[in-house]
Amino acid sequence: MSNILVYALHHDGAVNKNSLGAISEASKLAGELGGEVHVVFVGEDISDDVAGSVGTYGAAKALRVAAPAGVAQPVVDALAKIAQDGDYGYAIFGGGLLGFEAGAGLAARLGGGIAVEITGLRVDGGAIVAERPVLGDSEISEIKFKGFGVVVGRLNAFELAQSGSAVAVEDVAVELSDASGKVTVVTRGEQRGADVNIEDAQVLITGGRGLGSPENFSVADDLAAAFGGSAAVAATRAAVDAGWFPYAGQIGQTGKTVAPKVYIGLGVSGAIQHKVGMQSAENIVAINKDGNAPIFEFADLGVVGDLHAIVPALSAAIKAKKG
Ligand SMILES: Cc1cc2nc3c(=O)[nH]c(=O)nc-3n(C[C@H](O)[C@H](O)[C@H](O)COP(=O)(O)OP(=O)(O)OC[C@H]3O[C@@H](n4cnc5c(N)ncnc54)[C@H](O)[C@@H]3O)c2cc1C
Repeated sequence: MSNILVYALHHDGAVNKNSLGAISEASKLAGELGGEVHVVFVGEDISDDVAGSVGTYGAAKALRVAAPAGVAQPVVDALAKIAQDGDYGYAIFGGGLLGFEAGAGLAARLGGGIAVEITGLRVDGGAIVAERPVLGDSEISEIKFKGFGVVVGRLNAFELAQSGSAVAVEDVAVELSDASGKVTVVTRGEQRGADVNIEDAQVLITGGRGLGSPENFSVADDLAAAFGGSAAVAATRAAVDAGWFPYAGQIGQTGKTVAPKVYIGLGVSGAIQHKVGMQSAENIVAINKDGNAPIFEFADLGVVGDLHAIVPALSAAIKAKKG
């Protein structure tokens, strides 16, 4: 039971980055468990090149199942059949909604356990231990599995690591359940704001949970507009997780690393995972109503007060000065 299955999400001839992270992580764990990583592709028209490329992230086998792509049920059918026919102890999904849905279905089908939003995995006593942040990410809980274990990672939790070379692709025939034909993908779209480019901005206005609502990002937009063309708006993970801002604009450990000339944090506490993504900014300005917020420990300029009173006045002052 030492082999690990990884589901590979793919689109437009490319394997999803989070899936590659899951394969990289699984290959590290499989080495310690004395097993192999086998990667499962589900879909139509998946080329040998695309599927076989997972070998360069440590996979020993690429398994291809011809079935509708982009929906959970065929993924459950495919992984369940492969897991039942082989010697597998775990299945890992890189993250995302499809991972949640298919992972839960797979655990139920196999009578196994599931751990979601996982940020770390390790081997202890010949078994995988999953680490999951809890209580607003202030503590880490550890999860062990009884029976088959399904892990769904937090987006961007697993780093990509290349090892090995392309592998041959095996086609696996899977009889799909009735449920697999009940849902089809009608249309596929990109996330709103997926083209946000925060890495090239000279001035970055970063909205945190302190903004209070998605609508209040307009305060950040106005400040960026006051600075002009070289300014952009970014966000903390708390704001992104709340659905207030697209992931493409997230700064930090599980987001982007930025180094603008000026970083202005609006209602940003300055957690370490955020700091690692912006500490190279030339000038760090923080506006926060809590004088003890950690961001003041590394800000060049700190303003203690209510952002809703300060930022509109700041925007107006910049516009007046420029005008
Ligand atoms: C594995 C892992 C990876 C992570 N990766 C990232 C990452 O990539 N990026 C990231 O940002 N976080 C990341 N986090 C989360 C991180 O730990 C923090 O939870 C997050 O950065 C907090 O976001 P925030 O500052 O917006 O919210 P909070 O910590 O809730 O801070 C909100 C701040 O707003 C202030 N405030 C409230 N109202 C006002 C007001 N009216 N005026 C002025 N100030 C106000 C408050 O005083 C507070 O300091 C990660 C966590 C883990 C465990």
